[in-house]
Amino acid sequence: MVERHSDILILGGGIIGLAIALDLQQQGATVTLLSKRFEEAASQAAAGMLAPRAEGLPPGPLLDLALASLAAYGDWVAKLEYLTGESVGYWPCGILAPRSVLPAASDPGAPWLPASILAHYQPGLGSQIRGGYWYPEEGQVDNQALARVLRRAAIEAGVNLQEGVEATALVHQRGAIGQVLTAQAGAFGADLVVLAGGAWSQQLLPLPISPRKGEMVGLRVPIGYDQPQPLRRVLFGEDIYIVPRQDGRIVLGATSQAVGFTAGNTAAGVHQLLQRAIALWPTLADFTLERTWWGYRPATPDEWPILGPGPATNLILATGHYRNGILLAPITAQLIGQLCRGDTPARLTPFSWQRFHHPSTSAPYPSATLPMTSAPLTLATASQAQPLETEDSPLVIAGRSFHSRLMTGTGKYDSFAVMRQSIQASGCEIVTVAVRRVQTQAPGHEGLAEALDWSRIWMLPNTAGCQTAEEAIRVARLGREMAKLLGQEDNNFVKLEVIPDSKYLLPDPIGTLAAAEQLVKEGFAVLPYINADPLLAKRLEEVGCATVMPLGSPIGSGQGIRNSANIQIIIENAGVPVVVDAGIGTPSEAAAAMEMGADALLINTAIAKATDPVAMGRAMGLATTAGRLAYRAGRIPVRQIASASSPQTGIVA
Ligand SMILES: Cc1cc2nc3c(=O)[nH]c(=O)nc-3n(C[C@H](O)[C@H](O)[C@H](O)COP(=O)(O)OP(=O)(O)OC[C@H]3O[C@@H](n4cnc5c(N)ncnc54)[C@H](O)[C@@H]3O)c2cc1C
Repeated sequence: MVERHSDILILGGGIIGLAIALDLQQQGATVTLLSKRFEEAASQAAAGMLAPRAEGLPPGPLLDLALASLAAYGDWVAKLEYLTGESVGYWPCGILAPRSVLPAASDPGAPWLPASILAHYQPGLGSQIRGGYWYPEEGQVDNQALARVLRRAAIEAGVNLQEGVEATALVHQRGAIGQVLTAQAGAFGADLVVLAGGAWSQQLLPLPISPRKGEMVGLRVPIGYDQPQPLRRVLFGEDIYIVPRQDGRIVLGATSQAVGFTAGNTAAGVHQLLQRAIALWPTLADFTLERTWWGYRPATPDEWPILGPGPATNLILATGHYRNGILLAPITAQLIGQLCRGDTPARLTPFSWQRFHHPSTSAPYPSATLPMTSAPLTLATASQAQPLETEDSPLVIAGRSFHSRLMTGTGKYDSFAVMRQSIQASGCEIVTVAVRRVQTQAPGHEGLAEALDWSRIWMLPNTAGCQTAEEAIRVARLGREMAKLLGQEDNNFVKLEVIPDSKYLLPDPIGTLAAAEQLVKEGFAVLPYINADPLLAKRLEEVGCATVMPLGSPIGSGQGIRNSANIQIIIENAGVPVVVDAGIGTPSEAAAAMEMGADALLINTAIAKATDPVAMGRAMGLATTAGRLAYRAGRIPVRQIASASSPQTGIVA
């Protein structure tokens, strides 16, 4: 694997990555930029409005940042045009915001124009329009031209732009990003790494960024029309915007859909845009339909970008610009450039990633006040939930010791409160978390990662939802980042699940082995979830897995241990801990698995979906301990005939 080193390595070649790259290269740094696919960037899909007030940004740090960027725009694009000799279509044409209802209060940021005046600014507006706001300072840029020109300027300035190269993993070394792996061109290294991957950023780092799809329609003023461009301003309607370009194109936007990375325009999306645009400015009905397209805004929960130092000493974040990345590009490049040069601009502070990652502040296990479904069982104190003292040796996985031999999960609970209590009651020390569901904020998983006190519980990120080895490897890397973000710097554990089968949720042995080999090479402690196949278990051990986790019966089925003969063989041959995972429905089944000699159990559904999950958590904890004690105590042999309990010798005849 070849490693290329530069001062700065930028991941992502949309407008944000390119703007930062150019700034730093011009300041004398050597910059490499990895660009997965220039064409897919939101920067190409946008409308290019420069509209901090028309967008309705409320007063605060984001509006301040956006206004500063707007103020810098003219000089910034003039520099780009000077460097390349190409136009970026910057047009400070002002933005009109027509409204069909009269405003209840005035907007201090813009004058209100009654319909009669508005008609002078833009003739031909729909009859429902009662007036509108006027934002004379705002305008637009041809974002496609801008992205192209910026890219050319960056290359001509000397940026080493690697098109078609996707960063697939960040490799940590002593708290820093030591290497960035790519599928196409080996490894890259740099003094500083800047993540500017737009909506895809969360595929490298578990940041709360999700794609918000926007569909767009492009029209053109028809040939022979009496003016090349009859629209003189951007029209920012209530649910539609119309952006005229000086060359006769007209951009209509945009839908806003939380549908992940679902490609393509929809009939409903295009219909909605055309209908609303024609209602706002009916003349459009006769204009030529030129094209449709879509893009993915990088959305964050609070709609602010994530800017500034990241969770590694040499990692910088410049992502999550949501609806305003075109507008925010100059100020982002300026501030991130300063940060890379050693300054710490105060303006970046409100945009830190850490605003989403505050450690659990509430008591980790709020106990007595929570609704308890089984009254007489007293579970409130942590000490009562500890495993019984058994003088057992600890469970050791990848060099790390645990006293409890029960692992649990976080899925399927009715509330975080019940989850926390059940986990506490079980006495477990390892809790598995579905990385993908936390990442995508799947129902029931919003805020889950922050809901547990990870200073007391060891996180076992799992790759649930991955159907292929490649997906599982990617999600495992994310899981490692997630554990780091939550304070477990040295956590390299991953519960490997590769499950293509949606009916029985049975794992793919070939994909699991392939993923395990790769993850072990990358330094993970791999705990693979497998069918109870003794040969596969041995192979996984040989490639360096930290445990094997055979299933007792299908996940969540509660069928108990259906394959005890095979699990027995795995236990007999294993040189690593055997963790029986999936299928256990009752404490007696948990105890039975431990009596067989399993080193540990993983139980989730049987606890979470019990009528009283807290009581069941406790019962499973006790059963695990009892089964382990029984295993160590050694059971009596099974006989065909009775053997009296009292001694037969010395009986008086
Ligand atoms: C429909 C629509 C309309 C919009 N309208 C406006 C507007 O009018 N005004 C405005 O200011 N903003 C607007 N936006 C928002 C703006 O487009 C975005 O905020 C901005 O483009 C984000 O830029 P970026 O460089 O962060 O991400 P992107 O432009 O999405 O670029 C990210 C790039 O990184 C690459 N990448 C990702 N992961 C990797 C990796 N692991 N390795 C290598 N490369 C990677 C991707 O291939 C992509 O090319 C709009 C967005 C959309 C979708």
